[in-house]
Amino acid sequence: MAKQDQMDRVVNLAKRRGLVFPSSEIYGGFRSTWDYGPLGVLLKRNVKDAWWRSMVQMRDDVVGLDAAILMAPRVWEASGHLATFTDPLVDCKSCNERFRADQLPESGACPNCGAKDSFTEARNFNLMFKTFVGPVEDDASVAYLRPETAQGIFVNFANVQTTTRKKPPFGIAQVGKSFRNEITPGNFVYRTREFEQMEMEYFVPPEEGAKWFEYWCQERLGWYVDLGIPADQLRLRAHEESELSHYSAGTADVEFMYPWGWGELEGIANRTDYDLTQHGEFSGQDLSYFDQEHDRRYIPHVIEPAAGADRATLAFLLAAYDEEEVPDAKGGTDKRTLLRLDPRLAPIKVAVLPLSKNDQLVPLAGEIADSLRRHFMIDVDVAGSIGKRYRRQDEVGTPLCVTIDFDSLDDRAVTVRDRDTMTQERIAIPELLPMLHERLG
Ligand code: ATP
Repeated sequence: MAKQDQMDRVVNLAKRRGLVFPSSEIYGGFRSTWDYGPLGVLLKRNVKDAWWRSMVQMRDDVVGLDAAILMAPRVWEASGHLATFTDPLVDCKSCNERFRADQLPESGACPNCGAKDSFTEARNFNLMFKTFVGPVEDDASVAYLRPETAQGIFVNFANVQTTTRKKPPFGIAQVGKSFRNEITPGNFVYRTREFEQMEMEYFVPPEEGAKWFEYWCQERLGWYVDLGIPADQLRLRAHEESELSHYSAGTADVEFMYPWGWGELEGIANRTDYDLTQHGEFSGQDLSYFDQEHDRRYIPHVIEPAAGADRATLAFLLAAYDEEEVPDAKGGTDKRTLLRLDPRLAPIKVAVLPLSKNDQLVPLAGEIADSLRRHFMIDVDVAGSIGKRYRRQDEVGTPLCVTIDFDSLDDRAVTVRDRDTMTQERIAIPELLPMLHERLG
């Protein structure tokens, strides 16, 4: 399938099946903002949960945090965001469209109207959203929506370290909204002005920075593979010297082969002692750590794996999207669309389908659904032919369908159908739950 076709089909499926809607659609939409629908919210939540599970729950060296979006403006002075969190902006003098100077085509032609040498000089544009706290709109009440979640972690370093008594190496993880006034948002949920990040700051003794940087690069790349993105659609790209921020001792991006080419999914950076040093200086608080074992005091170095929940969700969707020819009931072939999502990410884990709207089958299906509901996200679908209902579930990635037919009334058994292989297996109702647990992992 042509790459652009794949993107169009995924965007179309997302709209049609309630994964992602254009925001404020009844008012004509609103500038590259998107709303996650009933199935999309489940998918994105599963992505965030899988991240939390691997980064926090499965480790004893990482703890969680949920810091506020609004923070003291001094934070952004200390972090350098006020002075340097900018993109170079140019206008096309011919069509007035705006672009990021670092993303213009080599030809020098305007990507919108094609005019040659029509750009203004680049000027720096700060990406932070500004607002006012309280009723008076003056300089003293200016605040910013956070452009990353990381700073909430740095300013709580001492709080977390003293309350948990963690010793470096240890990490603090956080998932939450961030805001950037991007000049050119686009590519669906890949680049938006409001998005969710999944960030972890890993604090290490100064001499261990390089080792942990390497560790986290491999760990994070492996996370996407484990959740079903084929390894050949992923790569780790080390930043060139010229791309590095002045404090970085190394940055690598986990990139995914999006339909338009390689694009960043996640950045992993060795931030040295920059953040804690800056916040120590600007706040006047001591953010060093006393290492009793070696009788020394130091400012921990930081390794930061910073991922985007929306970009990851899009990558999982694109990697899972498939179309195939399958035999139909009349001996011909039929096309089916499916999302080959890992069961951990699938919005609905099990669909419960009574073969028909029969007044004995529907109550039995209801009973089975009730017994499964507390274990899995399930969907009960009674409308339409069973074949159509299977296709509907395939299309949103439901790994297993449980069908209740007339035999079920006598033999107390149901059929479990597998999304990927379409094979069906008869199973006694009392054995259904353990079987589903085993199949869904
Ligand atoms: P890019 O170069 O694509 O603008 P970045 O290098 O500025 O990204 P980081 O600051 O490293 O991004 O942010 C960490 C992660 O947050 C990114 O890898 C991405 O997954 C996510 N992210 C950043 N900006 C956006 C955005 N505008 N929309 C959606 N996700 C984003």
